[in-house]
Amino acid sequence: MGQWAVAVHGGAGVWRDQDEGRICTGVAAAVAGARAVLDGGGSALDAVVAAVLQLEDDELFNAGTGAALNRDGDAELDAAVMSGKDLRCGGVAALRGVRNPVLVARRVMEASPHVLLAGEGARRFAQEQGFDVEYDPVTARAREVWVARSKAGPTLEPPSPAGDTVGAVALDRNGHLAAATSTGGTILKLPGRVGDSPIPGAGNYASAWAACSATGRGELMMRLLAAKALCDRVQAGAAPQPAADSLLVLMRESVGADAGFILVSASGEVGIAHGTPAMPHAWQRQGAPVQARFRCG
Ligand code: ASP
Repeated sequence: MGQWAVAVHGGAGVWRDQDEGRICTGVAAAVAGARAVLDGGGSALDAVVAAVLQLEDDELFNAGTGAALNRDGDAELDAAVMSGKDLRCGGVAALRGVRNPVLVARRVMEASPHVLLAGEGARRFAQEQGFDVEYDPVTARAREVWVARSKAGPTLEPPSPAGDTVGAVALDRNGHLAAATSTGGTILKLPGRVGDSPIPGAGNYASAWAACSATGRGELMMRLLAAKALCDRVQAGAAPQPAADSLLVLMRESVGADAGFILVSASGEVGIAHGTPAMPHAWQRQGAPVQARFRCG
């Protein structure tokens, strides 16, 4: 049996006026959730779902409860999962009324013939699968931030991510990889806007060689299919850290994006990089202590 590894992020962005210690505790707790699965011989897919579930329920993060609100003040949630060993994936986009979109994304993968369900159709699918679809993920803090940002007025520029989308990547003891990502998307987005997070290869990807969760402005991430580009670089022989560093440079030079990535390879190496002021993240490899940081460096 091989050795497991896991990494999680809490979103690349600015993270103004936030309690860094509390946020690092949040990402470390998500790693602990994944570790419990991996230590018990569980799958990478179960581990990334456990980690993201925890972060969706932590209202400090822009996913599930506490998600950023769209132009109309509603939470429309995007999430995806992907299993590297068989390239199966599932996602939901612009989903309303559900507490844990990552669980619905997994259900799309496992219980539907599709990869991605959006909007009302995704909600109906969730309901048919037994999920509560009347859940209200809007918190007082998310509403306050929305009110403050709304006052600044409309802009043609897609709003910058404030940070706080969540994602997880893992390698299990059987050598399988998986990735999961979940977000409320960018604040003040147009209703119906879908970001990179649920799009396979853009914000989330896993292969037999690597698993990646990306964060940053989805409109730019989609142009480069950043998560798949990173997994491909690892497949071609690059180590995760230099692969992530060089993709950040490519993104900045080609589309002007300051993004963030976490990835893990089939040999258990972890890569973590961001071009934004912060990206809370935590990682752990079997037999070593958990590491949690607010930003790299
Ligand atoms: N990538 C996410 C989106 O565009 C936002 C983020 O990562 O903060 O929906």
